[in-house]
Amino acid sequence: GIRSLLDLEKVAVLGHGNGGIVYKVHHKKNYNSFYALKVLRFDQNGIGFRQPPTLEAEILKRADSPYIVRCHAVFYNGDCNGGGGDLSFVMEYMEGGSLYDILQQHHRLPEEVICVLAKSVLEGLNYLHGMNIVHRDIKPSNLLVNEKGEVKIADFGVSHVVEGRFKGNDMNAEGTCAYMSPERFDLERWGGENADEFVGDVWSLGVVMLECLLGHFPFFGPQQRPDWATLMCAICFGEKLEMPEKASQEFQSFVNKCLEKDWKKRGTVLELLNHPFVKRNSCSKKGMEDYVLCG
Ligand code: ATP
Ligand code: MG
Repeated sequence: GIRSLLDLEKVAVLGHGNGGIVYKVHHKKNYNSFYALKVLRFDQNGIGFRQPPTLEAEILKRADSPYIVRCHAVFYNGDCNGGGGDLSFVMEYMEGGSLYDILQQHHRLPEEVICVLAKSVLEGLNYLHGMNIVHRDIKPSNLLVNEKGEVKIADFGVSHVVEGRFKGNDMNAEGTCAYMSPERFDLERWGGENADEFVGDVWSLGVVMLECLLGHFPFFGPQQRPDWATLMCAICFGEKLEMPEKASQEFQSFVNKCLEKDWKKRGTVLELLNHPFVKRNSCSKKGMEDYVLCG
């Protein structure tokens, strides 16, 4: 077991994020058991933070699903009287890296692999939504893959517990808005009507799937790096994206349901879990095991 951070030794850095670093660590008594250690630093003013990390800790500790990255322990280090400190999460190590890393290397993925990914993300979302949690940051770098090719949802840094009212504003959380649904842009900027927040995660899944098939962020060409306003305009006011001709009918129909701009007409997680794209036989055979990164 892991009784304290002193039981662990850092081996490498796996990633840097908003307000935190993720290390690959191993147990000092067992060099073959690896974990991922995410350390979030915070100070009195909460600077460097999207939201107090206690919610992220709470979600990680409670979640118990094969489609959500497991958290073995959470340690708090610092001053309990509102001062600074850091919160460390000991998580299962996902050897395959993130979908972002996989796309960097392979550029695109075939439909047989995308459907396994889609199915896993939907199962994970179904579990989270059942706990009243909206993830709100489904994107390639937050979908992790292990050596068996299993895909799991990670990073609850901007997640939200639905209580009828929308809370928080993380417009500044860099990199999060590209996968954000039109209704969330509305809400964050102008306080629009209170949409069903759960289907925002479905939108993001659709964007990710199209990116996997095309090999680039679907709203723009491969080399384009749009600013925030251009991005928002394309997502909220642009024409509905045309599906690539090479895609199967099932893929097109599935992603069209995800990328429905009007959240009231968008597919729900349960509808999509029963969609032919994830129900067809070829979707149960192979996962991402051929795509996981070595080393
Ligand atoms: P960001 O702000 O960039 O979204 P973050 O600070 O919220 O990041 P995470 O998304 O949890 O942090 O992790 C950052 C990166 O670290 C991931 O994209 C992934 O590459 C790596 N990583 C995180 N957790 C794990 C894990 N359990 N196993 C392997 N790699 C991980
Ligand atoms: Mg992340």
